[in-house]
Amino acid sequence: MTKIPSLDLRRGGAELDEELVAAFRRVLESGRYVLGPEVEGFEAECAAYVGTKHAIGVSSGTDALLVALMALDVGPGDEVICPTYTFFATAGAIWRLGATPVFVDSRPRCFAFDPEAVAMRITKETKAIVAVHLFGQCAAMDRLRAVAGEVPVVEDAAQALGASWQGSRAGAMGALGCFSFFPSKNLGGFGDGGLVTTDDDALAARVRRLRVHGAEPKYFHAEVGGNFRLDALQAALLRVKLPRLDEAVRRRRAHARAYTEAFVERGVGAVAGGATCSPRCAGRGTAQEARVLLPPACDPGHTYNQYVVRIPGRRDAVREALAERGIGSAVYYPRPLHLQECFASLGHAPGDFPVAERLAEESLALPIFPELTAEERARVVDAVSEAVS
Ligand SMILES: *Cc1c(COP(=O)(O)O)cnc(C)c1O
Repeated sequence: MTKIPSLDLRRGGAELDEELVAAFRRVLESGRYVLGPEVEGFEAECAAYVGTKHAIGVSSGTDALLVALMALDVGPGDEVICPTYTFFATAGAIWRLGATPVFVDSRPRCFAFDPEAVAMRITKETKAIVAVHLFGQCAAMDRLRAVAGEVPVVEDAAQALGASWQGSRAGAMGALGCFSFFPSKNLGGFGDGGLVTTDDDALAARVRRLRVHGAEPKYFHAEVGGNFRLDALQAALLRVKLPRLDEAVRRRRAHARAYTEAFVERGVGAVAGGATCSPRCAGRGTAQEARVLLPPACDPGHTYNQYVVRIPGRRDAVREALAERGIGSAVYYPRPLHLQECFASLGHAPGDFPVAERLAEESLALPIFPELTAEERARVVDAVSEAVS
């Protein structure tokens, strides 16, 4: 039986090859390989897409977070609130600046961190809050901004280019938005790349300066930055893909809708009701009997960078059963950040954030790349349903 990978970056690529090769040739012949007109053109297109005044191309999503926090003057003695259930870079960027990541737990249904828990962790040391738009769904930004008050909110939108919350685009709702063009993200590049968005002129100027070692003008350094520059080649290739992003997101949404329908119909899955972050976030099916807990769309702006289900008690067995049938899956994330060895000095112990710890044991990401076929999707549903029955 043919394999179904959890992600296939080459599929559907052939139709773009000609344009990508042309973009490559354009950069090759320009003799301009770092920043320059290709990056500026890409930045203008991204700013228009996200709906912010500024978009600044950087070297990766990780560096986008780092430079955004640097622009907010985050440093030793500061606390920065972030979820414990997220990709490592969210907290890694905070730690590298000498600040303390203050973790908060997640909501069990939608995996997003809980704005009410954020409210309880704000102190006079809180310098920023990093909201993660996990798996392509925005955090509850309306509620978060309300609890944050004067504290700036940085959006870690690495997984959520194209997403929106109550009609506002990811990256346009906080003080700064941070994106990644790692190949598996909604807009995947051909190597590493990232972007910082903001409406604030002063923050934008600061990010641009920090991107080139804090130099302004060149060779004169008012502060220490880094090499956070984006390659011209990466920008040129991403400019070919950006106009196709909405169509790719549309396909992701269609896959998610079809997965949810199919699991509910077969009586194995349900979208749990209960505490909601949005009035739209209604349950589906009977959660009590469900063996597969399906991800809710708390807002139609969800982009499903991942379709992550929860399988209490037998996630690993299901993952193995899928692998036996040649179906790829992934665990995001097997260990929450408060239990990572590198953060041991923060003194956390198992049980500190029970929801995140449970999600780490139960979550499984099913294949949902845009080019997945309906037949493949049906095979995934069959395999999961049989494995849990
Ligand atoms: C991918 C990712 C990052 C880091 O982006 P890179 O481009 O890989 O450095 C940061 N935060 C989250 C939530 C991510 O998923």
